[in-house]
Amino acid sequence: MPDKLYQECRTLISGCRAIFEDLREAGVDTLPLSSEKTPVASQVENASQPTGGQERGSTVPETLADLQQELTSCQGCALKKHRTRTVFGVGNPNARLVLVGEAPNTEEETQGEPFVGETGQLLDRILFAMKLRREDIYICHLVKCKPPNNRGPETAEVAACEDFLKRQLKIIAPEMILSLGGIATQALLKTDDSISKLRGRWQTYAGIPLMPTFHPADLLENPAGKYQVWEDVKQVMHRLQD
Ligand code: SF4
Repeated sequence: MPDKLYQECRTLISGCRAIFEDLREAGVDTLPLSSEKTPVASQVENASQPTGGQERGSTVPETLADLQQELTSCQGCALKKHRTRTVFGVGNPNARLVLVGEAPNTEEETQGEPFVGETGQLLDRILFAMKLRREDIYICHLVKCKPPNNRGPETAEVAACEDFLKRQLKIIAPEMILSLGGIATQALLKTDDSISKLRGRWQTYAGIPLMPTFHPADLLENPAGKYQVWEDVKQVMHRLQD
């Protein structure tokens, strides 16, 4: 076997092994082996490729491209001084599920995408367990510019930036949100309750059902939390199948 192919096979096998180890840690004993796609994946493939809110209803004038263009020159809060670029969000503009984190870190700012690196790989494994791919969903942050020293966003920064998220959600019109981590969840829900208390129970944000769960970075530090995340995302999966 040529070396390159051999290396690719090894990488693929070790990736699969990591996914199954995560699932076993999360208490998952069996996975459905059916080739049927989840309703959300089927819907994505059957979509007629609209590109934003204008396609969904004549009363929504904005598209994601419009909003992203506006974001690149935003001077709305002090974070403008620290950024090298904004991190708008990626994924399917017709997603039924939107994942929301808190704010970009250095690696995400460099790549211009939310949830990359080790945290992103773990998120991909969670999505795999949900029978979803990144292109089935939409992923973004509440705050679009990187706070200095990778700190969490402050209240004033959230207040200044939240309108972009609300407009993103209005354009995408998802059926539900999965909020990742305590900082994002507390800011979205305007509460000081801990993520341990909030997770696993449906809430509402901007009129959209929202399920809070732990941030993948929390799971890298505390793998025991994978069980709770699996319980939370199962609720999302059930709702997607309804
Ligand atoms: S964080 Fe949001 S509001 Fe603040 S400058 Fe960046 S895009 Fe504008």
